Amino acid sequence: MVQGMVARTITGDRFLRDDIEEFRKAAHQMVDWVAEYMSDSGKYPVLPNMKPGDLIDRLPRSAPDHGTPLYQIVRDFEQQIFPAVTHWNHPRFFSYFAISASPPGVLAEFLTAAINTNGLHWKSSPAISELEQVTTKWLAEWMGLPNDWFGMIHDTASISTMHAIAAARELADPEARTRGGDGNLVLYTSAQSHNSVEKAAIAIGIGQRNVRKIEVDDAFRMKPDALGRAIIDDLDAGRKPFCVVATAGTTSTTSVDPIREIGHIAERHTMWLHIDAAYGGNAAVVPEMQWILDGAHRAQSLVVNPHKWLFVPVDLSVLYTSRPDIMQRAFSLSGEYLKKVEDERAVNLMDYAVPLGRRFRSLKLYFVMRYYGRDGVVAILREHIRMTQELAKLVSADDRFEIMAPHKMSALCFRLKSSDADNQRLIDAVNATGRTFVSLTSLNGKATIRFAIGNMATTMADVEEVWGLMQKFA
Ligand SMILES: *Cc1c(COP(=O)(O)O)cnc(C)c1O
Repeated sequence: MVQGMVARTITGDRFLRDDIEEFRKAAHQMVDWVAEYMSDSGKYPVLPNMKPGDLIDRLPRSAPDHGTPLYQIVRDFEQQIFPAVTHWNHPRFFSYFAISASPPGVLAEFLTAAINTNGLHWKSSPAISELEQVTTKWLAEWMGLPNDWFGMIHDTASISTMHAIAAARELADPEARTRGGDGNLVLYTSAQSHNSVEKAAIAIGIGQRNVRKIEVDDAFRMKPDALGRAIIDDLDAGRKPFCVVATAGTTSTTSVDPIREIGHIAERHTMWLHIDAAYGGNAAVVPEMQWILDGAHRAQSLVVNPHKWLFVPVDLSVLYTSRPDIMQRAFSLSGEYLKKVEDERAVNLMDYAVPLGRRFRSLKLYFVMRYYGRDGVVAILREHIRMTQELAKLVSADDRFEIMAPHKMSALCFRLKSSDADNQRLIDAVNATGRTFVSLTSLNGKATIRFAIGNMATTMADVEEVWGLMQKFA
């Protein structure tokens, strides 16, 4: 046997004694490693310095025949795998939507893995079924959503939205569940909406050609009159408009669609209104930002991702619906929705979604909400929004740059008044310093720098440092 390898053929008593003692030792050391990492993730280059395939080439080609002691696996993780990590937890990570793995969230993940309970239905883990209801109700209260909405947790907003659109289909065309789609249903969303909407239409058989991308105004919000016209055109052509997806906080510019007007139109045509608030919904926890969800109480469903801007480690997406009966009708195979359940407080989440297995995700939401409380969360979000406004002032004071979109949340879109290639070169140069990671988006056909603040450790000094780099390379 190769040195350092152990044969692990033991079960029962020996497993408990030896493996758990080894675990205890490694875990104590790892707590210190994680605490160190959390307190100082800013010391790493944000982007790994590597070429595609480098990690694959570093690791053994064949699977292990023999066991390896934990300490050695941990060491190999540090030396071989860790250098290939992009540090989303870095205070100068300003790409996509910046996120945070908060201490209470990390602890809860540790417990979730250890308990390893699986929430197929109520009985398979009452804690999963019930804590999911409690925490999603708490979050609805923070966001100012109706208190009778039903909440459940999925991995990502893309999957939440797919389930919402499937429920919309169930309401509009109950036969589709058995027969398959008839290619006649039409879905409406804006030209700025997330591509998960189109993917959902692909996945559930609505079809890409039945997705209408409604034009936006100069603040990147869906135009309600254009929506109304598109619906009439489809009705005239004999098609069936069934669902509108409005966005509260678009991915590119954080624009907010006029939900109230869109809701009126959806109601007039008996269509399902789904709100994609994956990022922006978190901001609604801040009282002066609740306008973001103005009119949202008329929606049939809404998605928000606490893993985006609520300090819960990836992944955790909450899907709300005012029509859990339809969600259940869309997915239940047990006929549960037909009979009156003996105890209606025993919620079987497998009947409301595709997955059977269910991680204990609500535990991290519970830890995070209790640890920070609403006032703690509000203070951090306000600071992120304030820093974004400060950055906007700095950018507008430099006439080599122009701001490209309104910025009411924590992302700022601006560009060097020059070619797309120059903007790309600027970002490449800034990212190559290893000090930050900022990305580009495209607005009105122009390459645009998108600076998104969202990590708990970020300070104005971090923002100023990166802005300084941009000025230098400009
Ligand atoms: C990030 C984002 C999504 C996708 O989120 P996932 O959880 O990664 O699927 C969807 N919609 C909006 C508006 C987003 O910002």
